[in-house]
Amino acid sequence: MKDDHTFSVSYDLDHEGRIYMAPIAEKTGKFSSLEIRHLLIAMGALILAMTIMFTNMSSNIWVWAICGGIATVVVSTGFLMHELAHKFQAQKYGCWAEFRMSPQGLMMAVFMALLGFLLAAPGAVMIRGNLTNRQSGIVSALGPLTNIIMASIFIVLLVIVDGKGLIGLAFFYGAMFNSILAGFNLIPFGIFDGKKIMNWNVFVWVVLVASAAGLLVLVYPSIRLITSLFGVGPIGN
Ligand SMILES: [Zn+2]
Repeated sequence: MKDDHTFSVSYDLDHEGRIYMAPIAEKTGKFSSLEIRHLLIAMGALILAMTIMFTNMSSNIWVWAICGGIATVVVSTGFLMHELAHKFQAQKYGCWAEFRMSPQGLMMAVFMALLGFLLAAPGAVMIRGNLTNRQSGIVSALGPLTNIIMASIFIVLLVIVDGKGLIGLAFFYGAMFNSILAGFNLIPFGIFDGKKIMNWNVFVWVVLVASAAGLLVLVYPSIRLITSLFGVGPIGN
């Protein structure tokens, strides 16, 4: 545990270019109001982008309501819980860790959704402080691991409801997107979590990749289940 009396600060710029003080030592689970605003805006933009994708610009208000609900389930698990896993673990190691959105990435996500693609670089958890190679690897691994756990839970729920109804559809998309996001973030290059995991422990990286791939293989056959439910492809076409 960090001593509460230890207090060091660094200066940083927020996305509007204002200087603010960023305390380095902080309690796990602490959020700043700026961070909460960034998280809410990023969530809103991602939910909007995914809803646009799912509805395929339908004129039916109910389609929008249902797709909005499903997108909320997917984004709250696939994006929010992934980022919070990084944040809380970094805070546990005594770092300052806050999410900052990428306004360009979010605008791009909505724009691409209008064109029928889902592509998002919503931002990332910024970390200040000293992490060992192992700690950095663990902080990175917890993001994809969260997606793998969520996908597994959704698959169990999907089986329980027998893939039926709108709730089954939400579980299906929850399972599918969490598996895809786990795999995507495990790419071992550049800014992806996979690179830091690989630098720490190749075995952990291989286990995570195998788990994500296994989940995708499990969830893919259920597309047929959903297709038979709607009489069309899983995304309203
Ligand atoms: Zn991540």
